[in-house]
Amino acid sequence: MKHLLVFITLLCGPYLAVAQQPAPKKPNIIIIVSDDHAYQAISAYGQGLMPTPAIDRIAKEGVRFDKAYVTNSICGPSRAVILTGKYSNKNGYKDNETSSFDPRQNSFAKELRKGGYQTAWIGKYHLGHKLEGFDHWQVLPGQGEYYNPDFLMMDGSTKRIEGYVSTVTEDLAESWLDQRDKDKPFCLVIGHKATHRVWLPDEQDYGRFDGKTFPIPPTFYDTYAGRKAAQQQEMSIAKDMQMGYDLKMFASYDSVREGAVKRMNAAQQARFRAYYEPIKKDLDARKLTGKALAEWKFQRYMRDYLSTAASLDRNIGRTLSYLDNHQLKDNTIVIYLSDQGFYLGEHGWFDKRWMYEESFRTPMVMRYPGVVRPGTVSDAFVLNLDIAPTMLQAAGLPVPPDMQGESMLPLLTGAKAKGRDAMYYHYYENGEHAVSPQFGVRTRRYKLIRFYKRVNDWELYDLQKDPQEMRNLYGQKGYEKITTDLKKQLSSLIDKYEDDEARQLMTAKTAAR
Ligand code: CA
Repeated sequence: MKHLLVFITLLCGPYLAVAQQPAPKKPNIIIIVSDDHAYQAISAYGQGLMPTPAIDRIAKEGVRFDKAYVTNSICGPSRAVILTGKYSNKNGYKDNETSSFDPRQNSFAKELRKGGYQTAWIGKYHLGHKLEGFDHWQVLPGQGEYYNPDFLMMDGSTKRIEGYVSTVTEDLAESWLDQRDKDKPFCLVIGHKATHRVWLPDEQDYGRFDGKTFPIPPTFYDTYAGRKAAQQQEMSIAKDMQMGYDLKMFASYDSVREGAVKRMNAAQQARFRAYYEPIKKDLDARKLTGKALAEWKFQRYMRDYLSTAASLDRNIGRTLSYLDNHQLKDNTIVIYLSDQGFYLGEHGWFDKRWMYEESFRTPMVMRYPGVVRPGTVSDAFVLNLDIAPTMLQAAGLPVPPDMQGESMLPLLTGAKAKGRDAMYYHYYENGEHAVSPQFGVRTRRYKLIRFYKRVNDWELYDLQKDPQEMRNLYGQKGYEKITTDLKKQLSSLIDKYEDDEARQLMTAKTAAR
């Protein structure tokens, strides 16, 4: 196409300039990033756990990505990847426990701003409190709170706003849209706290799913045979999910010091207790143990988790209505994604981190009127790494050569772009939930994972025969060639993304064989 344009330009010379149409209006951009929202909990993805009409609407009017993944499955690092278009080894924010984000580095927001956009980030940010590249920001400190959240303000102050975090975040986003300079295109990031732990629902959603019993996932009682790292984790619903902190079954309210409840006002606390106290009473009377208790915890977890998702979806619906009501729908890209996937009882787990599918994969849908055909379903391998270059290309701006993602637009515009045939992953955090650091490669059929630090081991899965990743084939007879091929692919991706730490682990003499 580029060559054709150059040719026409050469052919027509100055006449083209006269005949040229004015440059098309740059699209506005809204990026909605939620936290820990599993694709399993989104009705557009067909799992049937709950309806999510707003997210489904974006998919229906645009594209649903069925093979969208993250490069490092955890909160802060994923946002750093989205913002910079670079892997964690390049943007420096490798984990939530030891890293700090350097806001002086380049980002899609800075590039858009240079290109004439107004930019804003509102809600969960999780990369510190010194934002650069935004005309306006108002962000939750760290993880933020569900009730009466505090917000970090541009002048350095902190402001507490009464209400439920999803609603308050959307209110702030709409106020900014109301006040923006309407002569310029905008890029707004709305960062939602939901559906992060400890899954505290909005008052109006208490009990929303109490009439429903959710199916126990087939891998709920997984014993992790052949998977050393999985044997060591501490993210099991049965063993590690806490009755008080996670499930709000407090022995005594007088002694409750959980910030999430303590910060509620009297009316909010009264409604909280009116909902949870009878559940606690009933639980005490039943004296459950073993599998019965594990399954009770699973049901409670699902009910609270999905209730926070209900508020998330309702407020995404408000964003879409705002665009409808302000004649912005046709010239605004809306992209929704979670910062990573999440376990809803698969393998007995909650939380994320692993390169296994449920946490590695993320929901992602995008509406781009006039460019993406409504109802598109894409099976292309895309990453959160690709958001930055995609938005820059949509804005008609150059993508800095050191951004490592690839624009998704050629995959969607009928250009028959091939896209990736393999994806690289690297998770670094070595702390909460005792998940071993790991890196690896996923192809269409196979996944090879190298664990290090806690566990020094390899795992290999045939995703076609074993989509739930229960049988580690590494070292088994008959898989020598595929293992060698995957290691080559992994090595070349490590080189491509210049991940020196992984490179050293691959070549170290002590490397697991
Ligand atoms: Ca997260």
